[in-house]
Amino acid sequence: MIRLVLFDIDGTLIASGGAGVRAFAAAAEHAFALPGATRQMTFAGRTDVSLVRELFLSQGIEPSAQNITLFLTTYLHWLERYLHELPGRVLPGVSEALATIRALPEPPVISLLTGNVRRGAELKLRRYGLWEEFVLGAFADDHEDRNQIAAIAHQRGAEHLGRPLAGSEILVIGDTPHDITCARHIGAPCLAVATGGFTVDQLRAHDPAWAVENLHQIDLPTVCRG
Ligand SMILES: [Mg+2]
Repeated sequence: MIRLVLFDIDGTLIASGGAGVRAFAAAAEHAFALPGATRQMTFAGRTDVSLVRELFLSQGIEPSAQNITLFLTTYLHWLERYLHELPGRVLPGVSEALATIRALPEPPVISLLTGNVRRGAELKLRRYGLWEEFVLGAFADDHEDRNQIAAIAHQRGAEHLGRPLAGSEILVIGDTPHDITCARHIGAPCLAVATGGFTVDQLRAHDPAWAVENLHQIDLPTVCRG
């Protein structure tokens, strides 16, 4: 039986209308005078800190803690602004899925597993009224590597429940091959949703337990019974 559900954010819960990518570009431009420097980067499924490090390495900037903090502080400033300016949305089936999980006889803990830094995750989910849905989370502040973020989410879930958790008791829901890989890292099944940048067939090639168009297409009570 699933006791912990770990949701990715971008492309899984919400589409930010490009606010995240735009804010990242604005931080590069305004804090480091690098206009256009992020154009060639791929963002889906990546962690914020690994993206900053990749940008710094490609531009010959020292990836010091101070520079990373300056970048992320500037990013968060622009993120808040773009989230309100750009037309994002909650993705299909998300509200119903959260309500279904909450209504289960023994509801699992609903949690986040994301490559966003915590404050970025909060800004994005508050914008769409979803932040309060999540009891726990593991973020890019916790680790730069998504597989390690998954391990931290697993550990926090176990601490919250007060007992060890098997991977088979955890469900990871995400929209990219990175989500499928990090689920495998903790021995958890992955429900892949094609609401981000990948199709069902592309996701299926990475062998998730389920791959669906959106969260309307899956019977979560059955999945959570294990
Ligand atoms: Mg995603």
